[in-house]
Amino acid sequence: MLTLREMKELVLENTLRAYSQELFAGTSGNLSLRDEEGKLVAITPSSFPYEKMGLDDIMVIDLETGAVVEGKHRPSSEWRMHTTIMKGRPDVRGVVHTHSPYATSFAVLCRPIPLILIEMLGYIGGDIPVCEFELPGSEALGTDVAATLKNRNACLMRNHGAVAVGSTLDQAHLRAIYVEDAAKIYSLALSTGGKVELIPQEAAEAMKKRLGLPD
Ligand code: 13P
Ligand code: ZN
Repeated sequence: MLTLREMKELVLENTLRAYSQELFAGTSGNLSLRDEEGKLVAITPSSFPYEKMGLDDIMVIDLETGAVVEGKHRPSSEWRMHTTIMKGRPDVRGVVHTHSPYATSFAVLCRPIPLILIEMLGYIGGDIPVCEFELPGSEALGTDVAATLKNRNACLMRNHGAVAVGSTLDQAHLRAIYVEDAAKIYSLALSTGGKVELIPQEAAEAMKKRLGLPD
């Protein structure tokens, strides 16, 4: 079982890595990790420069109420989205919300990323849908994203960014990287003006079966 300090270390390490990978923009983007008991969540502080972030800046909140348990800042303004996702998907302990440029450009186009790459099945569970626009920080955004993530491990957030989830924070982070990768490759393929082909239906179904994914 992870201690609170170890949870905060994982949040900090993943945050700094995500920032260096350009998954965040400015101070936008946040991530969180739930404890094993389902009571507490370690989460990034709100509007805090990533390059200055240290262990003491990571916040710990109550999963049910969002009340601050540890830390000297405000928790991410998206804490409702993080906790709503965790409450809706008990298998999820890590949530990574990015503003990565390629994924966000499809969120702005309001265009899902179709099943174009084999990794999308294994890491995301299929294509990457777009959830409806909701006010940032709102409960409704959490509810919409949580509903969209019922059968997927990632989605785009209309006119906003992307979110990926996992049973660990590292897994959610890796999935966020694959979201950006799929968006980048889709964008490059579209820019050639050629026809984008999806994974053949039969092969997709066989792979889904192999991975134990729902149809
Ligand atoms: P925070 O700085 O409060 O985490 O918010 C950034 C963001 O991505 C809002 O959606
Ligand atoms: Zn955001």
